[in-house]
Amino acid sequence: MIPRIDLHTHSTASDGTLTAPQLVRAAAEAGLDVVAITDHDTTAGWEPAVRALPTGLRLVRGAELSCCWSGVTPSLPLHLLAYLFDPEAPELVAELARVRAARLERGERIVALLGADGIDVSWPEILAGAGGGTVGRPHIAQALIRAGLVADTSEAFGPDWLGERYRVPKEDIDVFRAVELIRAAGGVPVFAHPRATRRGRIVPDELIAELAVAGLVGLEADHEDHSPAERAHVRGLAADLGLLVTGSSDFHGTHKTVRLGAFTTAPEVYEQLVAASSGVIEVVSG
Ligand code: AMP
Ligand code: FE
Ligand code: FE
Ligand code: ZN
Repeated sequence: MIPRIDLHTHSTASDGTLTAPQLVRAAAEAGLDVVAITDHDTTAGWEPAVRALPTGLRLVRGAELSCCWSGVTPSLPLHLLAYLFDPEAPELVAELARVRAARLERGERIVALLGADGIDVSWPEILAGAGGGTVGRPHIAQALIRAGLVADTSEAFGPDWLGERYRVPKEDIDVFRAVELIRAAGGVPVFAHPRATRRGRIVPDELIAELAVAGLVGLEADHEDHSPAERAHVRGLAADLGLLVTGSSDFHGTHKTVRLGAFTTAPEVYEQLVAASSGVIEVVSG
C-alpha cells in the first residue's frame, strides 16, 4: 500500500477546530501514515501532538508562516509552509512572535471597523474563541456567524465582509527573509497554494523562480483552492525550477469543509523533503 501523506493541517493552536491531540487521532482514523501539523505562525501545537501521537503515525512538525512580497504595491500576502525547523532558532522565534502580535492588533482593528458600521462583535469573545491560539480571520468569521450576520465561513470571507470591505492587512514576514530564516533553522520551505486565485491576488511565476534560487524547496500543487489547470501549472513550474511538488488538505476542522487526506503528497517527495531538513526529526510513536 502506498503511504498516505498529508502535509498541511491546522489545530486549535491557530485556526483549526480540533486540538492538536484530536488532530493526530483524527489523522490516524482517516488512515494517514504521515501528517504535518502546520499552524499559522506558531509551534504551540507540536508538544501536545507529539504526546498524543497514535502508534504508527508519523508526525512532521511544521508551521505556516504569514509572509509578504513587497515587489508590488500594496505588498502581496502569501503563505510559506515550513517543515522540521528548529523551534528555538532565535530570529525565527522572534518573527513568529511579532506576526502573532500583529495579528492581535489587526483583529482589533477589524472589530473596530465593523463597530464603526454598527456591527457589534466582541473582541474579548473572539479572543476567547481563539483559546490562546494564533488569532485569524476565521475566529472573527465565527463571531459574525454567531451574530447571525453570515451563514458560514465562506460567506464571511466574501467581499462584503472579511474578504474585502473589512479586510485589514497585517505585518507579515518578508518572504525572502522567511526562506532564509527557515533554511537557517534547518527547515524546509514550501510555498502553500501559490495559485489560489480565489483567495485574492497571486504572485508572478518570476517571484517563485527567484525564491527557488533563494532556497525555496517545494510548491504545493494539489490543494482544494487550485483548479485542475492551476495544479497543472504549478507542476510545470516546479519541474522547470527543480522544486518538489506536494499535495495536502489544509484541514481546518469545521472551519472548512475539506477532509484530512483529501489531497496527499507522494512518498518519494516526502523522503526528499525529510532528507533536506536538519532542524528537528519526524516523530514516530510506538
Ligand atoms: P488570516 O490568516 O487571519 O488572514 O486568515 C486567513 C485564513 O482564513 C486562512 O488560513 C484560511 O484558514 C481561512 N480562509 C481564507 N480564505 C478563506 C475562504 N475563502 N473561505 C474560508 N476560509 C478562508
Ligand atoms: Fe488558516
Ligand atoms: Fe494557507
Ligand atoms: Zn493553511
